Amino acid sequence: MSRSAHPAGPRHADVYPEGHYSAPPADLNGLDEKVWAKTVTRNDDGVATVGGIEVTRLAEEFGTPAYFLDEADFRARCRAWADAFGKDADVFYAGKAFLSRAVVKWLHEEGLNLDVCSGGELTTALDAGMPADRIAFHGNNKSPEEIERAVRVGVGRIVLDSFQEIVRVAHVAQSLGKRQRVQIRVTVGVEAHTHEFIATAHEDQKFGIPLAGGQAAEAVRRALQLDGLEVIGIHSHIGSQIFDTSGFEVAAHRVVGLLKQIRDEHGVELPEIDLGGGLGIAYTPDDDPREPHDIAKALNEIVTRECEAARLRTPRISVEPGRAIVGPTAFTLYEVGTIKPLEGLRTYVSVDGGMSDNIRTALYDAEYSVALVSRRSDAEPMLSRVVGKHCESGDIVVKDAFLPADLAPGDLIAVPATGAYCRSMASNYNHALRPPVVAVADGGARVIVRRETEEDLLRLDVG
Ligand SMILES: *Cc1c(COP(=O)(O)O)cnc(C)c1O
Repeated sequence: MSRSAHPAGPRHADVYPEGHYSAPPADLNGLDEKVWAKTVTRNDDGVATVGGIEVTRLAEEFGTPAYFLDEADFRARCRAWADAFGKDADVFYAGKAFLSRAVVKWLHEEGLNLDVCSGGELTTALDAGMPADRIAFHGNNKSPEEIERAVRVGVGRIVLDSFQEIVRVAHVAQSLGKRQRVQIRVTVGVEAHTHEFIATAHEDQKFGIPLAGGQAAEAVRRALQLDGLEVIGIHSHIGSQIFDTSGFEVAAHRVVGLLKQIRDEHGVELPEIDLGGGLGIAYTPDDDPREPHDIAKALNEIVTRECEAARLRTPRISVEPGRAIVGPTAFTLYEVGTIKPLEGLRTYVSVDGGMSDNIRTALYDAEYSVALVSRRSDAEPMLSRVVGKHCESGDIVVKDAFLPADLAPGDLIAVPATGAYCRSMASNYNHALRPPVVAVADGGARVIVRRETEEDLLRLDVG
C-alpha cells in the first residue's frame, strides 16, 4: 500500500475501507492498561485522569494539543530495566526517543545511562547534569566539532560507525592527549521488525560496519592499533518495535563470532557487547510486549551460551531501550474540531494537531488507538479516522479507530503510547506550534517543554 506523501493533494485507493478491520472494542470507555500510562484511569464522572488530575482540567490549564507524561510510570520503567539487567550490565536510555532536561534528571536519579546522537542531545544531557562518563555518543556522521566536544568532555563511549570515524576520533583523542573509550558498531545481517526477523548475510543500510566480507574485523584491527582509542566492545542494533528475542539471538551469535575472531587473531578479549535497543511496546491492545525481566534473562542466556561455546569470558552487556521506557508513559490530548461522516466509508475526525506532533503514522504506517476522554459515552461505535489540521491528505494520526457515534466538536480525545518519537520528531509544518510536554505526578502537573509560540517562529525568521 502506498503511504507516500501527497502534499495537499488527493489520495485515492487507500482511503476506501478494505472491509477487515478488527471488531470495535467491547467497551469504548475502557482505557486498556496495556497502552495507557500507569496512572491513567477514568473517574466516577467518566473523565479520564492521569496522576489523579482530570484531562479536562489539564486541557484548560495547558491547552491542546499537548503531551502528558506520567512521571511515576517513567521512573518505574527506568527502575524495571535497571533491576532486570542488574549490576553486571548497563542500561542506556536512547535519548532520541524523547529528551528534555527533566528526563535527564530522572534518568540520572534512577541510575540509568544515556545515549545521545547529536551535539544538541549532548548539550541537553550535560546541561541537566548527566555525568559525561555515563553518556554514549552515537551517529553515522558525527561532525568534527561533535567529536571534539564529546572527547573533550569525556563521554563514556563513542560508538564508531565507519572507517573514517575510527581515524577521526583517534586523531582528536590523541591531539587532546586522551584515550577515548569506543565501541565499534557492526551490522550483523539481521533485520528485525515487530513479529518477524530476517537473517541475511548482508545488510543494506547506512549504519554500522558490515560483518560480511570481514569488514568489521578489519575495522577492529585498525582501531586496536590506534593509541587514541581504547576499544571496549562491539555494538549491534538490529531494528525497532521488536517483540521477540530470536533476532537478538542471531545477532549475539554473530557478534560473539567476531569477538572470537578478534581473540584468535589479536589475543584481545573485548570486554563489552552492546545489543542496542528496539524493544517493542503496545501501541494497540493487540500488541504483546515482553517484560524487561524476560528480555534480560533471554539476552543474558543467549550471550552466556554463545560465549561458553566460543570459550570466551562473558562480556558485560549493555542495552539501549528508548521507546520501551518513554513510549507508554505519555499520551497526546487533542480537541475535536470538525467531524465529517463519509457515507459508506468512515467518519473523519479532525483534531487540533496532526502530523506535526505525530509523524509516525505517515512515516511508518504506525498504528495507534484513541479514546474519548473528556466524558463517558454509551453511543454506538463509529468507524473513524483521526486526522490533523495540516495541508496534506496523509496527515493521519490514527488510521482506523472506533469512537462513539455521539462524538462532537469540543470533545477531548487522547492517543496513548505517544511518549517516544512524537515530540522528538515534531515539526513546524504549516508553521504549527510544537505542543508542550507536561509531566504529571502525584496530583501535580508541570510543563517540562513549553509550547512554542508565534514569537518563537518569528524569532528564527530574521526577515
Ligand atoms: C534508535 C536506537 C535505539 C533505541 O531504539 P528504541 O526502538 O527506541 O528502543 C537504541 N540504540 C540505537 C543505536 C538506536 O539507533
